[in-house]
Amino acid sequence: MTPIRDLSKLCIHTITTKPWNIETAIEKYCAAGVNGITVWRQWLENRDPYKIGQEIIKSGLTPVSLCRGGFFPASSLTDRQKAIDDNRRAIDEAAALGTLMIVLVCGADPRQSLEESRRHIFEGIAAVLPDCEDRKIRLAVEPLHPMYADSRSAINTLKQANDLCDDLDHPLVGVAADVYHLWWDPDLQNEIRRCGESGYLWAFHICDWRTPTVDLLNDRGLMGEGCIDIPQIREWVEQAGFEGFHEVEIFSNRWWQADQDEFLKAIIQAYRTEC
Ligand code: ZN
Repeated sequence: MTPIRDLSKLCIHTITTKPWNIETAIEKYCAAGVNGITVWRQWLENRDPYKIGQEIIKSGLTPVSLCRGGFFPASSLTDRQKAIDDNRRAIDEAAALGTLMIVLVCGADPRQSLEESRRHIFEGIAAVLPDCEDRKIRLAVEPLHPMYADSRSAINTLKQANDLCDDLDHPLVGVAADVYHLWWDPDLQNEIRRCGESGYLWAFHICDWRTPTVDLLNDRGLMGEGCIDIPQIREWVEQAGFEGFHEVEIFSNRWWQADQDEFLKAIIQAYRTEC
């Protein structure tokens, strides 16, 4: 793979530079030549998503997606309804923000089987699809690494995400492929091809897997700090027809403690040389 020479497809998730508020993130990303931003819902709390969306668009950044909806499974019906209501709010926020896509961390409840959780995921997505149709919002199912199967997602492989899209069979349901969750999967190349051929491949998230990983959630690496062959996976997604943004999504206690301006410089350097 040839190194990436320009930043036209570089997007950053606001969670990556967690110490920055939305205004600072917009300003710094723009100044650094980044072209896309994925907004996490915490950055919209007590704020007007429409106004923030206008700020983003005025800055020249593309609002790539809203992170995140999902968390549908629950052993109680009341909690499942709460999740559906919350996803409806997320759809309204996404529409106000001016993005076309919500990333779904589908959820799981350790008090029930994974099969039961997957049934709740199917039903939850189906329940909010009429809202998506009204708002023209797409839902991208993000399969999560199996270490999160207890409480974060019962969708753990790209095959499961593709199967779920097949089952829902709706033009507003697709997939977000994140190298952190999928790099280990021996079926990855085939399932990326299938995802592209089915028209489901809508988002591509990048970071790296550190050894040893000292925190299951917040020790993701900057691209090049770990063992994921990101250029190989990028080649597969491009061969599958993906032309969207490369979204840097790094939850890292280590990097959040660093000078965020230096971190942003490191992200851009790593994007050019390690992706
Ligand atoms: Zn992701």
